[in-house]
Amino acid sequence: MKVSIVIPVFNEEAVVPATNSRLSGLLEEMRGRRLFDDYEIIYVDDGSRDRTPEILTGLAAASPRIKVISFSRNFGHQPALAAGLLHATGDAVVSLDADLQDPPELIGEMLTRYREGHDIVYAVRRQRDTDTWFKRLTARLFYRLMRGMGVDIVYDHADYRLLSRRVVEEFRKIREVNLFLRGIFPSMGFRSCIVPYDRQDRFAGETKYPLRRMIAFAWDGITSFSTLPLRLASVAGLLISLFSLLLIVWALLTKLTGKAIPGWTSTVIPLFFIGGLNILFLGLIGEYIGKIYREVKARPLFFIREMLNFGPDKPDQGEQ
Ligand code: UDP
Ligand code: MG
Repeated sequence: MKVSIVIPVFNEEAVVPATNSRLSGLLEEMRGRRLFDDYEIIYVDDGSRDRTPEILTGLAAASPRIKVISFSRNFGHQPALAAGLLHATGDAVVSLDADLQDPPELIGEMLTRYREGHDIVYAVRRQRDTDTWFKRLTARLFYRLMRGMGVDIVYDHADYRLLSRRVVEEFRKIREVNLFLRGIFPSMGFRSCIVPYDRQDRFAGETKYPLRRMIAFAWDGITSFSTLPLRLASVAGLLISLFSLLLIVWALLTKLTGKAIPGWTSTVIPLFFIGGLNILFLGLIGEYIGKIYREVKARPLFFIREMLNFGPDKPDQGEQ
């Protein structure tokens, strides 16, 4: 039985050494207790521009169990996770963040659940004390919105999860470019369970997910899994047309009762209103067309610059 750990890293020079020693210490100790026979730690360097690549090269040189995949540039958290999963060789694959916000000590419990026969184990945050009120609010909105749109997503679960070899192999069949893993794994089915944990503060360094990227991520999640926004557009269009019918009736009535002819506002306001909605919905449809465009091109999710400690029999690169 072998365990793989997958860690995406982007400009994490401040945390990688600490993360690695804590993780390696823990895994060595667990191996000593015969919880598993072997392990590997796969760091996916997502085009870091600080000293992270040098640090990772040093770690890989020190231990053959530490493997490194370096991207040619920054491709994002989700492609980095995917690359790690696709190259992992363990019977169980655990993904977690580099900043020690996901306590590695939980891996033991996740493995227990795996042994009980669960193919996917989701680590779920117990509380959000360490977050700012703003992050709490936006996160809550995000999960509500996703669920409201019919996306099967696990509440307060980020990307800390265990996957069995079966799931990872089946995951290869997913050939989406707009990757939103938090929606994909629940949609795959399999026996799954939840393990609660307390999320820590970021150990060092700063978040790579500022508001702008959070919004982009949420929007990607919604439009990759739901066409409800498109339907809302048609519904809104219908309602607005009905409303303008009422306006016609109203105009006729004012005419018949001989009241003052309405001024320009009644003409110009609906014009702007409907014109604006038109543009909005065209944009919405455009979003989906943009996605279709990217999916049809089927570009690889990432390009790899270098792979360390993977041996000669490494799998296909960058293909999904
Ligand atoms: N990350 C990445 N590529 C990116 C942004 C982030 O690989 O473009 C990694 C980052 O190094 C970290 C994980 O994704 O290991 C989560 O990022 P972060 O902790 O900054 O996000 P937050 O926890 O603040 O949402
Ligand atoms: Mg973090």
